[in-house]
Amino acid sequence: MNKKMPVLFIGHGSPMNAVLHNEYTQALSKSTQNIPKPEAILVISAHWETNGTYITASDSPKQIYDFYGFPEELYNLKYNPTGSKKYAEMVSKELKNSKVMLTEKWGLDHGAWSVLSHMYPKADIPVFQMSLNKLGDEQHHYNLGRKLSKLREQGILIIGSGDIVHNLGIMDYNMNASPFQWATEFDNYICQAVVNRKHDNIISYQNLGKSAQLSVPTKEHYLPLLYIAGLQEESDEVNFIYKGIQHGSMSMTSIKIG
Ligand code: ZN
Repeated sequence: MNKKMPVLFIGHGSPMNAVLHNEYTQALSKSTQNIPKPEAILVISAHWETNGTYITASDSPKQIYDFYGFPEELYNLKYNPTGSKKYAEMVSKELKNSKVMLTEKWGLDHGAWSVLSHMYPKADIPVFQMSLNKLGDEQHHYNLGRKLSKLREQGILIIGSGDIVHNLGIMDYNMNASPFQWATEFDNYICQAVVNRKHDNIISYQNLGKSAQLSVPTKEHYLPLLYIAGLQEESDEVNFIYKGIQHGSMSMTSIKIG
């Protein structure tokens, strides 16, 4: 019997973090020390949105460089773990009433590899992804997360990769710029909701008003958190892997639950 796995939400921010060494990347590197070695890693990434929900079912997923205009060194970073058809099929069975489809068309986008290259640099654990259904509302994503809970007992590490605060339009090009006040407010509000297991506040984040609107101008970076909230059980401890904001408007806050 496998030990029950924690679930993680990782704020990934700019892809540049994949090739940088800073406090955030050091925190990611250390984050896996106290986690039992997973059988496989399932990533729910902000960078894979589809009509309907898909799971990657290829045993050799291709690494996707899904960004433009970044320095050459980022394109030279190779992260090539195996995938897992076996576990993808297991997850699709677990979600059999939720119309989840398998596909070999996607691979690993930077929402997965930019953080895993720090967390599991040897790339020796199979990785597969699940997409974000563009047609689902917040409650839908939360409910789908809940349905993944059995996987924690089967040695699968589930990672939601996005950003609690993600506003590219207002971002400061200086990575170390002071955070906008609304960004800090929203980040703290959501962190408190996770600590206190106030899932209604996470699902209905728009109730916070202006700071929520500015922090979540589009939903895709926020939605992976709803899966992780759905997986949070009463007995789970909450630990912050990292808390902070880069570029003024990009939260790198990363949370370990369980
Ligand atoms: Zn992103």
